[in-house]
Amino acid sequence: MSNYDFDLFVIGAGSGGVRASRMAAAKGKKVAVAEELYLGGTCVNVGCVPKKLFVYGSHFAEDFHTAKSFGWQVEQPSFDWPTLRDNKTKEIERLNGVYQRMLDNAGVKVIDGRATLVDGHTVAINGEQHTAETILVAVGGWPFVPDIPGAEHVIDSNKVFYLKEFPKRVLVVGGGYIAVEFAGIFAGLGAHTDLAYRGPLFLRGFDQEVREFLAEQIVHKGVNTRFNTDVEKIEKHEQSLTVHFNDGSSSEYDCVMYATGRKPKTTNLGLEQAGVEMDKNGAIKVDGNFKTSVPSVYALGDVIDRVALTPVALAEGMVLVDHLYGEREKDIDYSDIPTAVFSQPPIGTVGLTQEQAVEKYDEVKVYRSSFKPMKLTLGETNERIMMKLLVDGKTDRVIGAHMVGADAGEMVQGLGIAIKAGATKADFDRTIGIHPTAAEEWVTMR
Ligand code: NDP
Repeated sequence: MSNYDFDLFVIGAGSGGVRASRMAAAKGKKVAVAEELYLGGTCVNVGCVPKKLFVYGSHFAEDFHTAKSFGWQVEQPSFDWPTLRDNKTKEIERLNGVYQRMLDNAGVKVIDGRATLVDGHTVAINGEQHTAETILVAVGGWPFVPDIPGAEHVIDSNKVFYLKEFPKRVLVVGGGYIAVEFAGIFAGLGAHTDLAYRGPLFLRGFDQEVREFLAEQIVHKGVNTRFNTDVEKIEKHEQSLTVHFNDGSSSEYDCVMYATGRKPKTTNLGLEQAGVEMDKNGAIKVDGNFKTSVPSVYALGDVIDRVALTPVALAEGMVLVDHLYGEREKDIDYSDIPTAVFSQPPIGTVGLTQEQAVEKYDEVKVYRSSFKPMKLTLGETNERIMMKLLVDGKTDRVIGAHMVGADAGEMVQGLGIAIKAGATKADFDRTIGIHPTAAEEWVTMR
């Protein structure tokens, strides 16, 4: 029997923290999890889940339009923001309840409040101290807004989910996942939407052709892209905001949303005093087993700033519990992580980009396909799908798959399995397609 109050004390009930808590409890461990804000963390409350609901909501604008080309008489549709916002909130509250029950049923003690580290085995919360053999810090990240004049007038990816009124004119600043996803949401829901990114093309790190293709496509969807543009200052007026850009221009908006990255949420957690080392961005440094510089303290998920994706945090939670309480150690495999950007149209991607592939391999074969989605052939649209397969010319192995177009995320999950399993182009070629689908292109590209 351990002399501690708990075997495992987890700080943060987001994706990684909840998974580790439940798995450890399932192995008979005495576990507590502390959460200061909301069960489920960023993903459930102000991230993946409500964002995807908003993406669905915004896509209807286009669906009504498409319906007309199939003969439907659609009255002029109108959109009611409070309905979407509040129905989304109800669903999130339901999910918070699901998380609570899941933890209760697993026997995990859930403590509401802000926990801080006292030392490597002690946590302070709500005026009490608890000891634990192992402490896991899984506090995630928080939106980062650069310190520009007028920054106090902008919203971030937390506040966007609770806007009182839907803005008519929006500026989204940034060029990552969140910026392109929200530019699509705002435009789809009817806002005049500008997207300002400081570099020449958004989604740095994604396949170049994918980035270029999406940049063309989102213009057709009503997003005005302003590349090589950054904000210098923002002035607030009674009814609007004036944004001054670094090219000397200025524009009026009702709402400015910053999506300029996220930072680990490690301030005032007692980490320094407990001896837990962090990097210059505040990310907790961990070894291959998620152990920090304090041997009894572990960290995973967004707070270690490796790969800020929910399924990665879940995988890290499972590996950690195996490491701590399982019979065998296994390393987490960060290679070929499939991912989707829920832009409109969405991106699905797995494996190497073409730029990475030509760096790594002597001979890279590139297979491409671009076509109009069948569902849109009866109407007038510029929308196209783009698919791309990268193959190592020597071994014939598929080393990258990229797509921009409807259902990209759904398709790329399966391609991720094929790539993990080491599938060759010949394997793709001998697979029979499903007709008529867009997905069949993956096995017919020659
Ligand atoms: P990202 O790190 O993806 O992108 C941040 C963007 O902001 C970059 O374009 C960056 O430019 C720009 N930027 C950073 N600092 C400044 C600054 N001072 N001024 C102007 N621009 C700046 O962050 P996000 O906030 O979009 O998302 C955070 C993470 O959350 C993602 O990386 C992803 O891991 C995860 N996520 C995943 C989603 C999914 O799976 N669909 C959805 C949403 C988020 P530059 O490129 O020039 O550095």
